[in-house]
Amino acid sequence: MSLERWLIALFLVLLPSCAAGAKAPPPPQAGPEPPEDVRLYALDCGRAEIADMSAFGDEPRARELVASCYVIRHPRGTLVWDTGIDDTIAQTKGGVVHERTGIRFRVDTPLREHLRALNLSPADVDYVAFSHLHVDHAGNANLFPSSTWILNRRELEWATATPPPPTVEPELFSAYRSAKLKLLDGEADIFGDGAVRIVPTPGHTPGHQSLVLRLKRAGTLVISGDVCHTHANWQHRRVPPFNTDREESVRSMERLDALIGAAHARFVVQHEPDDLAALPRFPAFLD
Ligand SMILES: [Zn+2]
Repeated sequence: MSLERWLIALFLVLLPSCAAGAKAPPPPQAGPEPPEDVRLYALDCGRAEIADMSAFGDEPRARELVASCYVIRHPRGTLVWDTGIDDTIAQTKGGVVHERTGIRFRVDTPLREHLRALNLSPADVDYVAFSHLHVDHAGNANLFPSSTWILNRRELEWATATPPPPTVEPELFSAYRSAKLKLLDGEADIFGDGAVRIVPTPGHTPGHQSLVLRLKRAGTLVISGDVCHTHANWQHRRVPPFNTDREESVRSMERLDALIGAAHARFVVQHEPDDLAALPRFPAFLD
């Protein structure tokens, strides 16, 4: 090797370490900049056509319910609350009838597309949490294999029993097996500042939980999960016959109602289309 070539080779070997000794380049930016204040985005993650609401303990009539999901962007990370109805259903116009429940599910905008509208990829989601693991809440759970899964311990035990409970499809959330897990036995304050809290509200399922958000301008919001499916059921403390524990369901409603009263919170019933429509229309947000 000529001296000249040898010097070039030496230069090329030294170059990266010199660069490292200087200012390290910033890591590639994952998703958008974190917001200054906590933001709540409400997403339409599918619709469920119910032929007879008495199956939910409500008046006997047909109704369409929404499966809403929520993206919470906190200065210290992003949380997805519930993952809606399986995105693959979006490929079938008009939706598909769920075999075991007879409910017609429809998805107009897949969750992955909603996230893209926020310039987020599933890998940018730090935490995914579930009110419970029914098919219309865990439908796209497997989109998030690299997120930390926040699961209620009782819920996971119940939902992974053999055979699976009705309206649970364990293959929809199978990625929990290899994901980072944070198992809850009660309340959790996700970012440690009281802004995003999960509170247990069992009864619909054994490990059912609700979400309590404290926003700077909008104040406190309580996101129901399925502590009730409709306003009428909430008002009259009506419990769907398929809930795993009737008394526990009523107690959870009472406890959550007390929390809502004490915090002067806005209550969002996740399955009520009007409650979703009353929130800023995605991708607008509440903060
Ligand atoms: Zn449910």
